Amino acid sequence: SPLVVAIDGPSGSGKSSTSRGVAARLDLAYLDTGAMYRAMTWALLQHGVDLTDSDAVAVAAEKISLESGTDPAAPTIHADGVDVAEPIRSDEVTGSVSLVAAVPRVREILVDMQRATIAGSHGIVVEGRDIGSTVAPDAPVKIYLVADPAARAARRAAENGGGDAAATEQALARRDEIDSTRATSPLAKPEGAVVVDSTHMTLDEVIDAIVGIVDA
Ligand code: C5P
Repeated sequence: SPLVVAIDGPSGSGKSSTSRGVAARLDLAYLDTGAMYRAMTWALLQHGVDLTDSDAVAVAAEKISLESGTDPAAPTIHADGVDVAEPIRSDEVTGSVSLVAAVPRVREILVDMQRATIAGSHGIVVEGRDIGSTVAPDAPVKIYLVADPAARAARRAAENGGGDAAATEQALARRDEIDSTRATSPLAKPEGAVVVDSTHMTLDEVIDAIVGIVDA
């Protein structure tokens, strides 16, 4: 079976840049599972589904097709054939995605897709919240990437082209709270994961550290 590097952690810990960098360095594929939850949320909003109605969300989710391109140099995400790389980063999607991710049927559907992508790869870095715990519990390398809340908010605000760091920190905290307290696959350090704290590290240092763990 292909090599799987599972990278979990809260929003803004640097997961995406780190995971892409590790995949590029090791010639592995890359899967952003957060983008899949976001794309599902975008499509449900597009269909006018009431996201507070978990039964309606579960039914509608069955009919939405997602496609993830796994090249770390140019990852792509399509929902129902539409390139949604940009709209899935909107405040509307970001503000609703944790609600959708809390619906157990949505998680089943996406976890199945993620396992199929892993199985079809030549080796892959997978980032998310439940990769080491649920999606790929047998992954030989599991990383739990964390950072101080202020560092995470500053990073996310910078990604969003400046913006209000305090408001960003609040929004991240709210999302983490929902992600950490949901009944199905809550965000937590997976068993056997190595904790990497990126607060005082550059991106290259974090990538080096994880590549070192994979090569060890
Ligand atoms: O990683 P990102 O911040 O883009 O993830 C968006 C949201 O998707 C998270 O806040 C979480 O609610 C959900 N998610 C999840 N499980 C994953 C990846 C993301 O529940 N494996």
